[in-house]
Amino acid sequence: MAATAGVPRAFRRVLKGRACATAILLLGPQRCLSSSFKASDLQIELTSRPKPKPDSGKLVFGKHFTDHMLTVEWTQENGWGKPHIKPFQNLTLHPASSALHYSVQLFEGMKAFRGLDKHVRLFRPALNMERMLRSALRACLPPFDKAELLECIRQLIRVDQDWVPQSDSASLYIRPTFIGTEPSLGVAKPNHALLYVILGPVGPYFTTGSFSPVSLLADPRFVRAWIGGVGDCKVGGNYGPTIYVQSEAAKEGFQQVLWLYGDDHQLTEVGTMNIFMFWEDQQGDPELVTPPLNGIILPGVTRQSLLDLARKWGEFKVSERVITMSSFIKALEKNRVKEVFGSGTACVVCPVNKIFYQGKHYHIPTMENGPEIAKRFLKELTDIQYGRIASDWAQPI
Ligand SMILES: *Cc1c(COP(=O)(O)O)cnc(C)c1O
Repeated sequence: MAATAGVPRAFRRVLKGRACATAILLLGPQRCLSSSFKASDLQIELTSRPKPKPDSGKLVFGKHFTDHMLTVEWTQENGWGKPHIKPFQNLTLHPASSALHYSVQLFEGMKAFRGLDKHVRLFRPALNMERMLRSALRACLPPFDKAELLECIRQLIRVDQDWVPQSDSASLYIRPTFIGTEPSLGVAKPNHALLYVILGPVGPYFTTGSFSPVSLLADPRFVRAWIGGVGDCKVGGNYGPTIYVQSEAAKEGFQQVLWLYGDDHQLTEVGTMNIFMFWEDQQGDPELVTPPLNGIILPGVTRQSLLDLARKWGEFKVSERVITMSSFIKALEKNRVKEVFGSGTACVVCPVNKIFYQGKHYHIPTMENGPEIAKRFLKELTDIQYGRIASDWAQPI
């Protein structure tokens, strides 16, 4: 957010390029201080003890971290501090920190990919920055300049670039995180916050080439998000409580949870992925459909990319609308459902072949007959991510 946002036009020219003092004079200290940190202020301290890198064939998601991290502190009093790239280390937090008690917290998930040409690319990173800023505003954490954060992340990746796997089935996972560090138990807007970014190499979601479908438990007793809630923000509080539901599903032999919503049992998301269906609509026309961004759906970067690609192909109808279990089952019984899959940064697309709902097993023929839209999406997106086809969605670091 620009420091001059909301400032009358006539003053903007005065402010531009002037020292902070001018802004304090015109606007009071808050406005000037809270604008943003700047990548040009980065303070870089390199580790003297680099860690051995794990074998890229044996990567476990989220268990390996690179040598450095990015941190930026914010206080109500002094605004944003300088961004730091420093050796990967533990945080020191006050035990009353609001992130720990009230989940004043948010995160992002994105990846950097190394192509055959050795170049490292980010995939539509501006969409992650936008989503992160939206989550921050909803969590009462301070705004920042999205382009400055992205530039800091680019520099962090450059510092740790040897950690980006030399493989087109692995990548570097990027976890921007933003937490309230307010040292007080009051349920209030934090006066202290910490934005940090950690990185780690990750392997393929599907082990060695097997693009195998998953089974889902659809139990309407469990709800992930609701209208008026924060299901459309990547805030930690949306995820911790789902672990129980996921473990119930696993206990009953299902790999993921299909999240339903409302009295009409709308299909909303699969685990931590958006959901897509490829079917014939009631008129018999092929249609790609995913639920609309009505507040309970996380606006996935992959979701957006699949919609953009399908609309570019222009070969079938592409819709964002509510799908209910009753319309889904009716279509399934008439053999109109061709494919169901999840979408997300971790897997790109994840095919679904079974749903257990209200005591019944439903079989979905994903991957069993053409035209295999899910596979086509996987190929097209990974070709872009690894630089095999040119696209402005893939941005060199
Ligand atoms: C992160 C996430 C997604 C996928 O978003 P991408 O930007 O595509 O990775 C979908 N649903 C939920 C609930 C998520 O947290």
